[in-house]
Amino acid sequence: MVVFSMSSLLQCPSKLLFPLHRPYSTTLLPYSTPRPIRPRCQPLRILCAKRTGKQRYPSEKKKLKLRKKEALSSVTNKFEGIWRLSKLSVLVQNDPGKDFLQIHIGLLQEIAKVIKFPVASMLPEEAFSVVRKSFDARKILKEAKFVYTVDMDVSKLLSLEPRTWDFINRLEPKVGLIEHMPSEKFSRDLTSLVHHIKDSNGTLPREQEHDIDSGESHKCSAARRPRIAVVGSGPSGLFASLVLAEFGADVTLIERGQAVEKRGRDIGALVVRRILESESNFCFGEGGAGTWSDGKLVTRIGRNSDCVLTIMNTLVQFGAPKSILVNGKPHLGTDRLIPLLRNFRQHLQSLGVEIKFGTRVDDLLIQNGHVVGVEVSDSTTKLQSDCKKLGFDAVVLAVGHSARDIYQMLLSHNVDLVPKDFAVGLRVEHPQELINNIQYSALANEICRGRGKVPVADYKVVHYVNDKDENSPLKSESTSRSCYSFCMCPGGQVVLTSTSPSEICINGMSFSRRASRWANAALVVTVSTKDFDALNFHGPLAGVEFQREFERRAAMMGGGNFVVPVQTVTDFMENKISVTSMPPSSYRLGVKAASLHELFPSYMTDALRHSLSMFDKELPGFISKEALLHGVETRTSSPIQIPRDGDTYESLSLRGLYPVGEGAGYAGGIVSAAVDGMYTGFSVAKQFNLFHGDIESVLGKAQNAGVVKLYKTQEGDDGNSSATSFISKNSETAVPINLIDLEPVERFSPGILVKISTLAMEEQIEDITIGPNFMNNFELYVYSSNLHLVIAHIHANHE
Ligand SMILES: Cc1cc2nc3c(=O)[nH]c(=O)nc-3n(C[C@H](O)[C@H](O)[C@H](O)COP(=O)(O)OP(=O)(O)OC[C@H]3O[C@@H](n4cnc5c(N)ncnc54)[C@H](O)[C@@H]3O)c2cc1C
Repeated sequence: MVVFSMSSLLQCPSKLLFPLHRPYSTTLLPYSTPRPIRPRCQPLRILCAKRTGKQRYPSEKKKLKLRKKEALSSVTNKFEGIWRLSKLSVLVQNDPGKDFLQIHIGLLQEIAKVIKFPVASMLPEEAFSVVRKSFDARKILKEAKFVYTVDMDVSKLLSLEPRTWDFINRLEPKVGLIEHMPSEKFSRDLTSLVHHIKDSNGTLPREQEHDIDSGESHKCSAARRPRIAVVGSGPSGLFASLVLAEFGADVTLIERGQAVEKRGRDIGALVVRRILESESNFCFGEGGAGTWSDGKLVTRIGRNSDCVLTIMNTLVQFGAPKSILVNGKPHLGTDRLIPLLRNFRQHLQSLGVEIKFGTRVDDLLIQNGHVVGVEVSDSTTKLQSDCKKLGFDAVVLAVGHSARDIYQMLLSHNVDLVPKDFAVGLRVEHPQELINNIQYSALANEICRGRGKVPVADYKVVHYVNDKDENSPLKSESTSRSCYSFCMCPGGQVVLTSTSPSEICINGMSFSRRASRWANAALVVTVSTKDFDALNFHGPLAGVEFQREFERRAAMMGGGNFVVPVQTVTDFMENKISVTSMPPSSYRLGVKAASLHELFPSYMTDALRHSLSMFDKELPGFISKEALLHGVETRTSSPIQIPRDGDTYESLSLRGLYPVGEGAGYAGGIVSAAVDGMYTGFSVAKQFNLFHGDIESVLGKAQNAGVVKLYKTQEGDDGNSSATSFISKNSETAVPINLIDLEPVERFSPGILVKISTLAMEEQIEDITIGPNFMNNFELYVYSSNLHLVIAHIHANHE
């Protein structure tokens, strides 16, 4: 279940603010705070107002008409191809449950309603396939339901049940609900995509290039394959390696950590015997930071986009269950990730990729402003004499955001590093049962620790703390901040992600069933260079120092030995530590009661506290004696970005270097890192003449290419913007989203088809909200008809 609460980004007066899903309770919170927090203003919601007929704005009417016309004219032959039926809802009691992804009678009844066929049981199941299944338990609904998108193969249907002919004949397309596709849309895994490209384009090097040793050109000779080093075997490094190896490059994948088998033992030693291997742990090792994770595959870069579908299909190729292609909120869990990574490794090796585990890149070899190789050492020993120099034609740097030594090394070579905003905070843990009850009420009984009909409950909360408001805890500041939940792990556990014993930082993981007794999520507040400056941290690595400062403070508060400082949410709200016993924690290395309210600067503590009180309104019971805050969550995203060329992905300050993934500031999760690695792989292959096409014409624009800008288009009498439109960076690909009128409320109409071309996404919207994202940029959250979930835009600037 996704719940958003956010204040106005547009500084709208409070009279314009309104609730979306349900009115907020006005009752006082059941705890006292040292400084009473008055409700500041109602959170802004962009209401999904149902406007029909005359109520529709002219622009809406025009677009709807156009879409209808297009949809009608696109149907050349109703009796061939596929009809896609979206938004089919089946009540929980009529559905076999979350794990059943086939056609069933409850769903046939919904299909029969849409095509107006009188006897659902006569519809042949074989003619239909489920494309998407999501669970919708939003509180605005009377009853929770499963929401389906189904493809109907007409020729199969007619051959199996000819009596449907008349009904198909009468079927009319309806924007976002009933759509006709001349043929089945199917996506490939990366291996077959590259094979397909190779078969259709030919990929042999076209021209003779100079050898690297000449120092003139850094393209390799046509006689030999380009030698590419990929540093880091996280999602971005793995996918970059895969593309390059499939195109025939000579790839060496260098990983400081260990293969999953050995890494598992190292993590076991940490959890059981408190031995932290600094090079093989929750952050470093095969699969990267996401291996011992929840394996959530939800992404903010467009669930239906071809690039994301390619990643998903590739994961299936390596052993992920097919359900990730259909599930509205796919996740794998650590137990499934480990065998998947083993298969991935074996495939890379079968393509000739040399994988060097336990090998750390310490330096880059640079000639004439171009990377010509790397210096590596054996990460299992401390002996410097083990250093080796390896020559390469290009280096893909996929090191993640915990490779702080690499940032330092890049600086020493004058590579541009730009500090980036990120977010810091605490991880909150509740009993899973409490979250289940808050989210599902009576339906919570159906969860059965992950084995039941409905998914284990999750949540997502966002609150925008605006300094303009007189009750804001940030009144004295000139900064607005967002506080939000991040990386929520239902049925999971809190884990240690430190890479040094003097620092504590934590995160969450879970297994595929999500069967543990706990629900944890980060609650983080955005921070920026101004905050780093205030603590006397300056320069490109100020954000890293800022992270380290709080990681050290947390380690001291815990008293060492990886003990994590904790405080109940109720105590945190009241600035105290209770003498009574603490609720249990899933964290295995021990917890110690501490004054977490003293850990951060007051602006952060205040923002967290204020947001918690707002979250409690969204999720009554969130503030609870049973809820335990753990310190600290600092590595939510990279504190820097390494500027690179938008087309070639090459560093702007060092040729031959390709910074990629989360550590370079271009991704914020498993899927987005994989997508970034994949595009970089294609780009490097192109640089070396292994690929001559244009990958964006196949998979759509890369995730960072589409920047949505939020423009104020008119000034109202009171100086506030009275209309706002969203258009993309490039007006050629303008996002034809409606104008959002701010009078009397911001709203979109359901039924309007929103085509966000930069995301290669086309969905019928149910609801749209605007909010700050993990990089503190504004984004568009689109609740679509297919997914009911959030498809958030990656990056939007507020102008
Ligand atoms: C505990 C935890 C849970 C998470 N859960 C989720 C989740 O459920 N869903 C989600 O989308 N995201 C999750 N994330 C975030 C996700 O893991 C990252 O966004 C993603 O892994 C980033 O991928 P990457 O390839 O950019 O970098 P990483 O995955 O960090 O990989 C970088 C790799 O580079 C290696 N490396 C670093 N320096 C060197 C060097 N000098 N030489 C050689 N190798 C080097 C590291 O050992 C590492 O293996 C989680 C993260 C953690 C820590």
